[in-house]
Amino acid sequence: MQRGRLAPTPSGHLHLGNALAFGAAWLSVRAVQGELLLRIEDLDRGRSRPEIADAQRRDLEWLGLHWDREVPAQSTRAYTTKGLPTYLCDCSRKQRLAGGCVHRKAPAESGAVRLRSGRALIHFSDRAQGPQAFVPDQDAMLVRRDGEAGYPLAVVIDDHRDGVTEVVRGGDLLEPTAVQVELYELLSWAQPSWLHVPLLLGPDGRKLSKSHGSTEIRALRAAGVSQEQIWGALLPLLGCAGDSLEGAGFVAARVQGGALLSPDLSKRELS
Ligand SMILES: [Zn+2]
Repeated sequence: MQRGRLAPTPSGHLHLGNALAFGAAWLSVRAVQGELLLRIEDLDRGRSRPEIADAQRRDLEWLGLHWDREVPAQSTRAYTTKGLPTYLCDCSRKQRLAGGCVHRKAPAESGAVRLRSGRALIHFSDRAQGPQAFVPDQDAMLVRRDGEAGYPLAVVIDDHRDGVTEVVRGGDLLEPTAVQVELYELLSWAQPSWLHVPLLLGPDGRKLSKSHGSTEIRALRAAGVSQEQIWGALLPLLGCAGDSLEGAGFVAARVQGGALLSPDLSKRELS
């Protein structure tokens, strides 16, 4: 069975860009009667708030993005780098950027755990954006200096443990996918399929964020905007007309076929 996931990070309230990516994830898995998981990605304990996670669940329900099962939040899980080639590095970001790290050859006694990447170029295929090739710019940090798992390690282990077969998410995670692909290959785990939804831009041409306060789902709801109005605006960006998710089945078929999204979507503004 196909299995997808909604994986919000509870450091900020959901906005229209999140709704677009989660809508694509929902449509993709519903088109094949698959299972949709909810997983709260709260590894960043400093910025994650349980009350924001609760608000995100409410926003998802209100949007009609129902999930079948919630799996344990990342903050409750354990992660290991077992099976991966790694080294310890205690460089600052500045030192690494300046090319001053010597720890690949002479590992530090303590510090962050980094992947000893063996790859010059990493290839993968994206269902919406086609063949991808990325040169890893540096050895990814798998475990932070404070012992907390880094995003690439956590998301790969979680998707594997949760049996996720398709990853559908925002385009800001397209390039970071390369490290995840390398981890899957090193661990000899089957990769999920990848689909990255181009980012929704605000009227200022920048990625939607907290600074576009009025695009938060809860703010729109409080202002009297309906679920139908939101999907009426977002579904055309996923390549279909209509104002209800349930009625968008034919789009979901296109999502499966990889024909989702017009190439110029990333340049479009939400009016
Ligand atoms: Zn170093």
